[in-house]
Order: sequence, then structure tokens, then C-alpha cells
Amino acid sequence: MFKTCASVCLFLIGSIETVGATPSSGSDRLLKRLWPGDKLTSSYGGVLNPQKAAVDESMPDYSIVPELPSLSDRWRGTIRSVHSKSAAKYVAITLDYCELCTNVNGYQSQVIKYLRDQNVPATLFISGKWMRSHPDIAQQLIVDPLFEIGNHAWSHANFGIAPVDLIEQQVLATQAQYILLRDQIAQTALSIGMGDEMSLIPPQPVLFRLPYGRCNDVSLQRLQHFGLKVIQWNHVGLEGYPATQSACEAFVDKLHSGSIVLLHGNHVPKHTLSFLQKVIPLLRQKGFTCVTVSTLLETGTAVVIQDGYFVKPADNLSLDTQFGFMGTGVRK
Ligand SMILES: [Zn+2]
Repeated sequence: MFKTCASVCLFLIGSIETVGATPSSGSDRLLKRLWPGDKLTSSYGGVLNPQKAAVDESMPDYSIVPELPSLSDRWRGTIRSVHSKSAAKYVAITLDYCELCTNVNGYQSQVIKYLRDQNVPATLFISGKWMRSHPDIAQQLIVDPLFEIGNHAWSHANFGIAPVDLIEQQVLATQAQYILLRDQIAQTALSIGMGDEMSLIPPQPVLFRLPYGRCNDVSLQRLQHFGLKVIQWNHVGLEGYPATQSACEAFVDKLHSGSIVLLHGNHVPKHTLSFLQKVIPLLRQKGFTCVTVSTLLETGTAVVIQDGYFVKPADNLSLDTQFGFMGTGVRK
């Protein structure tokens, strides 16, 4: 049974470590070799939206996914931010690449181009189905050390109301799709004498983001069992609204060191690029350093609750009736 207990389940976990211990999330050498010059899809300068009919959306065999060690009970729940212990100010920009059963969401290349041009690290929570429908782009993002890849379920199922077997499918099929794409990269790297670079690319994602921010005790227990830390946010970007300079300044004023910002990298909502173009310079003016979520977790103590709401508890419950447990509006 779903229950909202954010108000009573707040506790702090984690440890203080140095940012220098950050795990690698890719290989710049391999990226430049496999996609030299303007071959990176972010150079296209537009929205790439594959034709739905041309996309193979079948779910991969997820029996290939090696088991990650289960997380201890202290990590059970959703991480909304980090109590940073560092004198430096850190913030994690996160972008979701959602894709429901019923659509193919495309790719707003300018967002990634801006982050690359500005050398801004980010954590990308990618739907497994999006990885399958955008394989070349997904491989570029997997190899790029600027970006950390997290799991955003296969097709955006609602983890607050979906049956447990569907939840497991959604998680593991996404891990499998990442592994399949990584295996293809490894074969190419090996063929050009760069197989050693693969040690820099994580074998599979270790972070998860809940579609719609929805969860329940069972889904959080399964994610803990699968060894995936659930990363939500404590600040929602100005998505769906014009990113005016004054609104962006007000947004940055609310951030503190250890904040996690929710954005989307697809072409819907439409204002992510203009938001970033204003917010990143403001963050730098205020002395913030952008880091991936994994790096942010190393800077202090994770704030863990048992809910995944947007701004305040229960503000996402209405999505249950809009999209159903398959995340498509169809309850089957
Ligand atoms: Zn999403």
C-alpha cells in the first residue's frame, strides 16, 4: 500500500569524503576517437526526433544484467539533496530523458551542446526505451566523461502503483539496454586498440530516478535490493515556463550547496536550454561548482526521505489517474 511519510521519515545518511575520489563516468579519448570533429550529435543544432515507426522498442533480455550488491537499509528511500560539509559550494544539474510506451521523445541537441561547450557536468536519467530508440546518441552520452548516466525506468511506469513484476522489468530492462550499448562500444574500442578505455566507463548505472517521482514501500525496497540509489531533487527547474532573467535569478537565490536540480533534456518541456543559459552563469557568479550526483554525494550527507514528490508531498498523486501504472494513460 502506498503511503506518504516524508514528514516522519526524514533522516540523514552518508559520509564525508573528498571530491577527488569521484568515480570516472567516461573516456574523453574514446569519445573524440569514435565521434571526431562534428560527428557528435550535439553538433546538429536542432531537435532530433526519430520516426516512431522506425524504432525497435522491444525490451531486451534482462537476464544478462549482473546483480549489483544490495544497498544497506540506510540508503532505502529517495535522496533529495545533500547536506554538504565542504566549504566549497556544489550543485548537481540533472536531466531526465523520459520516454513513455506511447511515444518517442527525441533529443534536444542544443542542451547537451551547451553543457559540453560550457564544460558543465550533469547526471542524465535515461529511460531504457529512449536508449533503444536513440542508440547512437545514448552511446555518445555513455562515453562522454562529462555525463553520468542513471536509470529512469524502461517506459516511465509509475512506481507508486505498478505491480512489482512490472517494476522489476522496468528497472532491469533499462540496465540491460545500457549494457548492450556499452558492449557495442567495447567491441568498437577493442577493434581500434582502445579497449583499455572501457575501464573508465561504468559497467551499469548505479543511480535511479523515479518516473513522476512516484514510489511506495515495495518499489523502494526493490530498488534497494537492485543496488540502485534513488535520486530525486529539491529544486524543480523552470520547465514549461519562459526562463526570464529575473525568474532564473530568483531560482538561483533559493539554491544551497548540495542542491539537486530537476530538468529535462528532451524537446518537451521547451525552455531547458534558455534556463541553463541563464542559470549556469549565475551559479558561477555565486561561486557554485556543478558536479554529477555521485560527486555531490561525496561532499556530505545525503538527505533521504520515503517519497519522491515535486515540490511538496502528494503534489504528484494526480498523475496516477492521468497516466496509469504503465505511465501511458492506459491501465494495462
Ligand atoms: Zn521522467
